[in-house]
Amino acid sequence: MSHKYSFFGAVEKSFDKAAKFTKWDKGLLEQIRQCNAVYQIRFPIKRDDGSIEVIEAYRVQHSHHKTPCKGGIRFAAEVNQDEVMALAALMTYKCTIVDVPFGGAKGGIKIDPKKYSPIELEKITRRYTSELIRKKFIGPGTDVPAPDYGTGEREMSWILDTYTAMHPGEIDAAGCVTGKPISQGGVRGRREATGLGVFFGIREVCNMADIMAKLNLTTGVEGKKVIVQGLGNVGYHSAKFFQDAGAKIIALAEYEGAIWSNEGLDVDSVFQHRKKTGSILNYPGAENFAKSGDALEMECDILIPAALENVIDGKNAPNVKAKLIGEAANGPLTPEADEVFAKKGIIVVPDMYLNAGGVTVSYFEWLKNLSHVRYGRLEKRFTENMNTHILGQIEEVSGKKVKPAAREMIMHGPDEVDLVYSGLEETMINATREIMETWKENPDIPDMRTAAYVVAINKVATAYAELGIFP
Ligand code: GLU
Repeated sequence: MSHKYSFFGAVEKSFDKAAKFTKWDKGLLEQIRQCNAVYQIRFPIKRDDGSIEVIEAYRVQHSHHKTPCKGGIRFAAEVNQDEVMALAALMTYKCTIVDVPFGGAKGGIKIDPKKYSPIELEKITRRYTSELIRKKFIGPGTDVPAPDYGTGEREMSWILDTYTAMHPGEIDAAGCVTGKPISQGGVRGRREATGLGVFFGIREVCNMADIMAKLNLTTGVEGKKVIVQGLGNVGYHSAKFFQDAGAKIIALAEYEGAIWSNEGLDVDSVFQHRKKTGSILNYPGAENFAKSGDALEMECDILIPAALENVIDGKNAPNVKAKLIGEAANGPLTPEADEVFAKKGIIVVPDMYLNAGGVTVSYFEWLKNLSHVRYGRLEKRFTENMNTHILGQIEEVSGKKVKPAAREMIMHGPDEVDLVYSGLEETMINATREIMETWKENPDIPDMRTAAYVVAINKVATAYAELGIFP
């Protein structure tokens, strides 16, 4: 019998590894570990050619210790219950580490979206939403979906429209889903949020002199050689923020293959090339790798797997030459890979907090929806007037003029995107430091993932204890 990889099993394994470093009651740990509610759905849709197809879909709520539950919906041919359960559990830990007051959830529809027309996709999304409404598995105070692999703003709009149509007069209805277009109540900065969070998290690790010394690397992101696997929303934006900060993107990988250049690749121009030719391969001046996975094994400082789970396992982990691995995807490494890297002294910055930028900005979007006002609307002009006044006073007292570039920067009152970026930056820096502190306080913790789980378990368990459920 062939052994099938269980993603939820891997999450449980990591959880158990970390639970040993906490002092919580066994029963409470079990309550945290399990999925609270699993909703498996089958519904028919009529395809464009008239045939009828039965669609398999899921929504899993892993934890209700805080509500609403929160997590994306993915459209992928590989979707299965085990995967959605694992992703929902990761959402619980992710939210708690970045202090986002939600329980974890995840949804999945087992389809390859490339094989369906937009009309078919709309039918599927709307029917799925209706099924969630029927069982109260969606709502601004119960469960709030978001984009994930294979979904984006368009799908979130369909979800919102279906929900509002069936909840007339519900004033907070826009908060039933996040990752919406701006015109539908979305927040500026959500699209690039996960990639930006990945960048902020890794940058913070790169600024830690002791960690970098251990890895034999200089501090700072500038000049670091980076490889990114996946040019979807998360991979593209991560790569772009690293490039903008002065890192060198030496390889990019997609499922059709990978490209490499020691001089560094321009992320936008590779993206355009792929859009035009349909493939990442044959990018001018770069070397081709027919096997996408080969890019994971190239020499580099930082490796960012930003595609799907389970891409680095016990088999290829020994060939990975990166010194720092940033898990932008959910679950790209198996527990066996973790063991290989811990032994080699390679630091793995774990998914469940590194890719929390998406849900953090989703939280900001949800708050915006509940408050019915755009960020910055009230204070932007006030701040600009105040800054102008302060500048005037400085110039008068000092008798000198501030340079025009500095003047612009000082006077600027915050726009929505400024506030979202700065809220995200603060969140990612704090989370990175908290995990590292926990790791340092307990040298027996073998890796950063375990330290992150310890932080997460302690926070969820404290919340349960404070609820008075387990006195
Ligand atoms: N799908 C993203 C994740 O895995 C975002 C979830 C959200 O914004 O709720 O974290």
